[in-house]
Amino acid sequence: MCGIVGYIGHREAYPIVIKGLKRLEYRGYDSAGIVLYDGKDLKLSKTKGKVSDLEEKSSKEISTNGTIGMGHTRWATHGVPNDVNSHPHLSNSGNLAIIHNGIIENYEPLKKELINRGYTFKSDTDTEVLVNLIEDVQKKDNLKLGKAVQIALNQVIGAYAICVFDKQKPDEIVVARLGSPLAIGIGKDEFFIASDATPFIEYTSNAIYLEDEEMAIVRLHKPLKIRKIKDDSLVDPYIQELQMNLEQIEKGGYDHFMMKEIYEQPNVIKDTYRGRLHANEGLIRMAGIEDNIDKFTNAKRIVIIACGTSWHAGLVAEYIFEEFARIPVEVEYASEFRYRNPIINKDDVIIAISQSGETADTLAAIKLAKENGAFVFGVCNVVGSSISRETHAGAYTHAGPEIGVASTKAFTTQITVLTMIALRLAKAKGTLSNSDFHRYLQELEIIPEKVAEALKTNDKAKEIAAVFKDATNFLYLGRGYNFPVALEGALKLKEISYIHAEGYPAAEMKHGPIALIDEQMPVVVIAPKQGHYDKVVSNIQEIKSRSGKIIAIVTKGDTQVRDLADYVIEIPDAADAMSPLLTTIPLQLLSYHIAVMRECNVDQPRNLAKSVTVE
Ligand code: GLU
Repeated sequence: MCGIVGYIGHREAYPIVIKGLKRLEYRGYDSAGIVLYDGKDLKLSKTKGKVSDLEEKSSKEISTNGTIGMGHTRWATHGVPNDVNSHPHLSNSGNLAIIHNGIIENYEPLKKELINRGYTFKSDTDTEVLVNLIEDVQKKDNLKLGKAVQIALNQVIGAYAICVFDKQKPDEIVVARLGSPLAIGIGKDEFFIASDATPFIEYTSNAIYLEDEEMAIVRLHKPLKIRKIKDDSLVDPYIQELQMNLEQIEKGGYDHFMMKEIYEQPNVIKDTYRGRLHANEGLIRMAGIEDNIDKFTNAKRIVIIACGTSWHAGLVAEYIFEEFARIPVEVEYASEFRYRNPIINKDDVIIAISQSGETADTLAAIKLAKENGAFVFGVCNVVGSSISRETHAGAYTHAGPEIGVASTKAFTTQITVLTMIALRLAKAKGTLSNSDFHRYLQELEIIPEKVAEALKTNDKAKEIAAVFKDATNFLYLGRGYNFPVALEGALKLKEISYIHAEGYPAAEMKHGPIALIDEQMPVVVIAPKQGHYDKVVSNIQEIKSRSGKIIAIVTKGDTQVRDLADYVIEIPDAADAMSPLLTTIPLQLLSYHIAVMRECNVDQPRNLAKSVTVE
C-alpha cells in the first residue's frame, strides 16, 4: 500500500505533487520520491523518511520546475525502506520512470530473465523489475509506451496501480490498475493522477476511477481513452462528480480509520497470501520459511511472544500449529517472558508478532531469545522495522498502514500468515492428510469472500450496539479457536468504548465469572457450527437460566442458538481453524458502533498509543 500522485498540464508540477503526497501519507510513509520533467530531462529525488524529508532534500537536490511530475509515498513490500528502494524507479536506459502501488508476485523469474538479457538492478523492489520489463518489451518491437505497458502487464501476476512516463514521448503518462486504486482528475488542459482524489480536490471535481484491468493513456490536448489491459477493447469513461471533502476521501468515505480498516480486511487478507498461497498447485511458498524449514521441522517447541492483539493472534496460532503441524506451542506475553528467566533451548523456534515491529517488550524478548541461541522468526506489518531487522527471518503481513489505534486488519492478517506457516509445516512433517491439506488451502483462499460476507453484519451489530451502549460490563465467551477471539472482542470493547469487558473460555465461566451474570449483563458468545458447538450451547443455557442477555455469533442457518439467544449475528460457515477470521468481524463492528454511540474518540482512544515503544 502506498500513495501515488501524477500531474501533466500547464502548472508547475512540483508543489501539486508534494502537497498531494502529504495528503496520501496515511497510505504509507516509510520513504518518498519525486520525478519531474522540465522539457529536456528527468529530475529524480528520493529519500527514506516522510514527505517532509523529501521536500527538504529535493528542494536542494534538483531544480523543481517542470509541468509534468510523478511522486510516491511508500509502504515497502519488497526491499527495506531506503533511498534506493524508494520510488520513482527508472529503467536501465534512463528513459522510463515508474511509480507503483502494489506487489508484482512473479518479479523473481522476470528479474532473472531480464538479468540474462543484460539488465541490471539498483534496488530490491519488484517495481524496478516492472519498469525494465516495459522497456524490454518496448525496445524489442520499437513500440509506443502504451502498447509496451499493456504487453508487459499481461506477463505480470500481482496487483498494481502504476504511472509510467517516457521522456522520449513527453506529452503523456500511461496509467493502469489491477487491485490497487487509481483516480484521474480531469481539468482544463491538465490531468491529475492519484491513489484517491485528495491530491486534486481543489483543482477539479471531475474524476474517473479506473476499474481493475483497465489502463489509460493520459495525453495532453487529447480525450482520455480507457482500454482493457487484456484485450485492448475500449471502455466508455465514466466521469464522476466529487462531492466529498478532503478528510472524507482520506478515510475512504468512512467516518473513522478504524472502520475503513475493518472494511479493508477482505483485500488485505488477499494481499497477505498473494504470491504465497497457491491453492490450485497445492503449495505454500514463503521465503522466510523455505530458507529455514529444517529449523521449524526440527523444533521441539515453538514459543510465540507478543503483546496485546498480537498476543491474541498468537493464541489462535497455538491452536492451529498444534492441530496442523503437531508441534507444541507456548504463547507468552513478551513483558513477562523477558523478565522471568525463561527456559530457552537451542532447538526452540521463537515467533515474535508485532504490527509495528517496534514493540519494546517484544524487541527485548527477541534479544533474550537470541542470546540463548534460539532461532527467532518475526511476523510484522512494517517493512524494515526494528523487529524485522532483529529477527533471523520473518514474514510480513502486508496489511498496509494501520492508523486506527485499535488493531483490526493487523490481527486478521497475522492469523493469515500464521495459518500459512502452520500449513507449510504440516506439509513438511506429513501431519495433515493430503486431502485435509488441500481443503485448508482452498478454504483459506476463499476466506476473503467470506470476510466480505461477514461484514454485512454491520447493520445488525449497530442495532445491538444501540441496545447495549450503556452497559457497564460485558462478558465474551468462546471455546477452542474462538477462545482467543473472545479475548480480542473484549479487548476491542475496552480499548475504544471504555466499557469493562472480560473474555473467557466458555467452560471457565462456571469457575467464577458466572457469579456476575444477571439481567444487566450482556454476554457475547461465539458459537459457530464447527468446533465445540454442543458444549457452547450448554454454556448458553447456563447463562440463560441466570437471565443474562445473550448476543450470539453463529453460523448462517443456525436454529438451536437462535431459540436461546436474545440477539443473533450470522457469519458464513468455515472450517473451525479458519473461523476466527470470520467471528472476529462482528465483534470489531460491535465495539466500533458502541464507541461511536458513546462519543468516544475511536481512532485515538484515551491513554493509548499505536505503537508501544516503551516497556
Ligand atoms: N511493491 C512496491 C515496493 O515495495 C510498492 C509498495 C507500495 O505499494 O508502496 O516498493
